[in-house]
Amino acid sequence: MTPEQKPVYARSCFLCKEIFTSTGKRKSSFCPECHTSPLFNVASSLLGQIRRAEKAGLSANVTFEQWLSTLDFFEGMCAYCQIVPYKCIDHFFPFELGGGTTWDNIAPACHGCNHRKGSHLPEEILQPDELERVRTYLYTRFDMEVTR
Ligand SMILES: [Zn+2]
Ligand SMILES: [Zn+2]
Repeated sequence: MTPEQKPVYARSCFLCKEIFTSTGKRKSSFCPECHTSPLFNVASSLLGQIRRAEKAGLSANVTFEQWLSTLDFFEGMCAYCQIVPYKCIDHFFPFELGGGTTWDNIAPACHGCNHRKGSHLPEEILQPDELERVRTYLYTRFDMEVTR
């Protein structure tokens, strides 16, 4: 290889799934078009949580479409208090205790609720109605995953 030749990577875009090529040392997970997509920030923070779980050796198999359907279900609001728009991805069963980034374990949360949960078990910290609502939703995701 001559010094002018840079390695070329063929990758599947995390957002649109199209194959694109990139050169250079920084491998991107998004094609150039998706970098300017309105959904880029949503996809990028999900990918961040997927990578974080992978690094910790936890399950990380949620797809972008699955996460969008969860956001849709909670109408873009915090799944816990339901009064503040969601700001971050909460691991229902805490990440610190081994909860992975899977469709049946992540919920949209506001900063307040995310902080309130911390690394506590959901049963320890949530109001009964919050616990019931989010748990019911997530548990039915699990059924959808295994019966697919
Ligand atoms: Zn793309
Ligand atoms: Zn909240």
